[in-house]
Amino acid sequence: MALKPCKVCGTLNGEGVDTCLSCGHDPEGSKRPAIFRYIAIAIVVCLAIPLISGLFNWILWQLKPKTPKPNPSKVSLVLNEIPDPLKKI
Ligand SMILES: [Zn+2]
Repeated sequence: MALKPCKVCGTLNGEGVDTCLSCGHDPEGSKRPAIFRYIAIAIVVCLAIPLISGLFNWILWQLKPKTPKPNPSKVSLVLNEIPDPLKKI
């Protein structure tokens, strides 16, 4: 009697058994309970929502017209004195 690994959990079961001795699923089928799929989807969604939200906020921030910052007047009051050649004459 050959032993076949369960496709769900990998436990070796006797050939022809209907249910895995370890996990109770059909060792021939790779079917997983639907709850695993929902859990996987939920995990993906939980991970994706912050990413999408952050990306969306980033795009909005990029599209938002930049508010003109109050420009501190850094105009230097010191004018470069241009040497006037006529003055020395
Ligand atoms: Zn199993």
